[in-house]
Amino acid sequence: MAKNPFACSECHLILADGIDQCSRCPSAPVSSDWTGYVVVMNPSRSEIARRLTIDVPGNYALKVNTR
Ligand SMILES: [Zn+2]
Repeated sequence: MAKNPFACSECHLILADGIDQCSRCPSAPVSSDWTGYVVVMNPSRSEIARRLTIDVPGNYALKVNTR
């Protein structure tokens, strides 16, 4: 089974396979320990996007756990 990709703890973006640094928030820690896969197509109309302050379409994690 494939390992979880990393997600950014700052913007919650799920990163591409093999990427361990968010291009939008390079200083933010990333974690493969996240839950809730969310696809945001239209951030301005998405309740979840508003809650997570997402303004760019993409795949996001609802909750990112960092140690
Ligand atoms: Zn980020």
